[in-house]
Amino acid sequence: MPRTAVETEDLVMLCICDYSGQVRGKGFPASELPARLKSGMGLAPTNLMINAFGEIGDSPWGPRGELIMLPDPTTKVRVDFGESRPSEQFFLADITELDGTPWTCCPRGWLARGLQALWDEFGLTIKAAFEHEFHYSGAEARLGDSYLLDAIRLQDSFAQTLMPALRANGIEPDTFLPEYGPQQYEVTCKPSLGLTAADDAVKLREITRAVARYHGHKATFSPIMAQGAIGNGVHVHFCLLDQDGTPVCFDACATLGISATAEYFIEGILSEMPALLALTAPSVISYERLQPNQWSATYNNLGNLDREAGIRLCPISKLHDSDPAENFNFEYRAADAAANPYMVLGVLVWAGLRGLREEAPLRKLTDTDPGDMSAAERKSQGLVRLPQCLSDALEFFAESTILEQSMGAEFRDAYLMHKRSEISFLEDYTSEARITRYASAY
Ligand code: GLU
Ligand code: MG
Repeated sequence: MPRTAVETEDLVMLCICDYSGQVRGKGFPASELPARLKSGMGLAPTNLMINAFGEIGDSPWGPRGELIMLPDPTTKVRVDFGESRPSEQFFLADITELDGTPWTCCPRGWLARGLQALWDEFGLTIKAAFEHEFHYSGAEARLGDSYLLDAIRLQDSFAQTLMPALRANGIEPDTFLPEYGPQQYEVTCKPSLGLTAADDAVKLREITRAVARYHGHKATFSPIMAQGAIGNGVHVHFCLLDQDGTPVCFDACATLGISATAEYFIEGILSEMPALLALTAPSVISYERLQPNQWSATYNNLGNLDREAGIRLCPISKLHDSDPAENFNFEYRAADAAANPYMVLGVLVWAGLRGLREEAPLRKLTDTDPGDMSAAERKSQGLVRLPQCLSDALEFFAESTILEQSMGAEFRDAYLMHKRSEISFLEDYTSEARITRYASAY
């Protein structure tokens, strides 16, 4: 007997990316969209404090208070799965007070304030692209499949369905590649400006997850999947543009092409980097990834073409026809997908801004591993080993003036409380059990 089609109705989700980097939200019938675009949906402040594992730990707000998730109409995502299944639809939201004014503890709002200050004080904006590494459970793992062409066959048609889904949502795919580990892949997209770059990172993770679910599998962005393995990094490529959209990081006459503006901005980030890790490498297991010789980052150095530097000065290919200034960019390597993309871009902007304000001279570029230098040499160059656990990073975070001033005490303290409770939540877990827990969360 032929099966009759089941009636479906479109559901739209309204989402925020919270302190644990998870995207959570509430849904409504698509017919309500015009009204919801205006009025948003209610949210308890403590929702932001839900930890990566879905539990509410300590919260400064308890069960009290009320906020609004106000959708940004430009952030619409729609992933279609053909005739047989309803599409997935969501919007990303700002978090506001009941009168629509920004809530001071909203991560997207914090980034927006930093971008505004960069624009107002220096007439600059940031262009960025987040590169994501992840594990795809649908790929057959074979021994020695690092970067292998066969690893693309082993993922069946996942990448080929992911690319149009990204493109349909305004994210232009750049590359898709097999990474080093079994089932490990990387997807990159073209850069975007300011807030959109962070929106794109949030969307890209969720679209990747949605497409993986469509195939009956899971995309996992957890920082590390097994002890001693190479991790899943999030590398942020960025450069600065002036008010006319002209790139300002490149100066053909300067050492290695780094303009004075870029020097100040980069030095601002590097000198604050131990504190920044609390927001960019914010899980307990992030520090298993940030180990020596793991192709991640262990020092606050600017490395020339170095894939283990805190920030890598990226190469410019002579084969490009375009102006070298167009492709000149830096790559922040100490981030992972346990981090909220608004907070990752936020720390780069706020710390870079301080560098611009102070005109801090850039440290020497490294062309060797700072771990091989003598302690005296490292000291003379301002190089420090990055924190080796989350609680150390949080100590630096708690001491950071720029983060305190930019976030404000309420936001700063809430984030600290959130992360400290994540640490205590995992206290009795073995290292292996933690890795498993994070893999199921991200
Ligand atoms: N998987 C490495 C990381 O954890 C990065 C490898 C690469 O350079 O692409 O950051
Ligand atoms: Mg990679």
